Amino acid sequence: MTHKFDEAGADLQLDGITKRFPGFTAIDDLHLSIPAGSFFALLGPSGCGKTTTLRLVAGLEEPTDGRVLIGGDDVTATKPHQRPVNTVFQSYALFPHMSIIENVAFGLKRRGVKDAATRAHEALALVELDHLAQRRPSQLSGGQQQRVALARAIVNRPALLLLDEPLGALDLKLRRQMQLELKRIQSEVGLTFLHVTHDQEEAMTMADTVAVMNKGRIEQMGAPEELYELPRTAFVATFLGQSNLFTGPIATASASSIVVDVAGRRLEVPRDRAQRHTGEVTVGVRPEKLLLHTEEPAPAAGVNILGPGRVVDVSFSGVSTTYLVAVPGVGVVTVFAQNMVFGPVVNEGAEVWVSWRI
Ligand code: ATP
Repeated sequence: MTHKFDEAGADLQLDGITKRFPGFTAIDDLHLSIPAGSFFALLGPSGCGKTTTLRLVAGLEEPTDGRVLIGGDDVTATKPHQRPVNTVFQSYALFPHMSIIENVAFGLKRRGVKDAATRAHEALALVELDHLAQRRPSQLSGGQQQRVALARAIVNRPALLLLDEPLGALDLKLRRQMQLELKRIQSEVGLTFLHVTHDQEEAMTMADTVAVMNKGRIEQMGAPEELYELPRTAFVATFLGQSNLFTGPIATASASSIVVDVAGRRLEVPRDRAQRHTGEVTVGVRPEKLLLHTEEPAPAAGVNILGPGRVVDVSFSGVSTTYLVAVPGVGVVTVFAQNMVFGPVVNEGAEVWVSWRI
């Protein structure tokens, strides 16, 4: 079946947005440019200003400074209901006394849209719930209700859909399923999605572009792989998954790499991965890049070795095992190992070395 979601999404631009509440700056000179039809995630810890940003885009807050442009139009002074925007919240607030189809068609009917029923059925088909159109919200599961809320927002064909932690109330399995579904729906309808979440895995699974927000500012923005592989700050490295951070002065530098002295050990880092080439630097290494050895590995070109250390914790989690290794002078190093047929290679208390390819 074909869907009549031919209206394209619009691009969104935030041009130097600042939002000050009495005694507190929630958003600080924010510049964002989101291309039409993209799935964009704003990711950050609680209180970093994500919801405030969405509210500014929706027109529910007025910026202290800066402009909001949707599809090139300056909407900074436009009333919320006149903006081509719809929001899906974590609490989906369906009308309990109305059927599902009535819930979805409600806004269209109120506006006197003629083919409201057809459009509502199309939107329900898109979220694969048309067969439950006559049920009441209380007869649906949490995930199904969230999909109805999505259909209700999409049916208005907003140029821009704002999603504020829409999957926050769902259990992990349903959340994962809905993440993939949201992604499918977005690519099918081609609208611009601006999704706010504090869950890094969710942001990386769904979005084309992720902006990591911290204290009212964007720390880094890019494709999920880029943010994960090349985080520019320690905050981004640790917020997007786990990272081992080793800090020390630069001992030597060549055209291709730098060597950092970490508690007397020399760690080599490719030059293009280092933010600085003089002074003190922090080296971030993902736990899954590390290998554990029960005997000291022979030194080899292009391999860093830390150790000896002692395994202080082993936690098994199905596909992988996490080892915490205390390395004197360096600290506790986290190692993720894929579980092969033979299971964990070392136990708590074992003496080990940790290595990785630069
Ligand atoms: P969460 O993930 O917990 O929802 P968030 O990143 O969405 O967090 P915001 O709700 O945008 O964060 O809030 C950003 C900061 O602005 C917070 O420190 C919050 O306390 C503050 N703030 C939000 N609204 C107001 C207000 N009306 N008056 C004063 N401070 C506010």
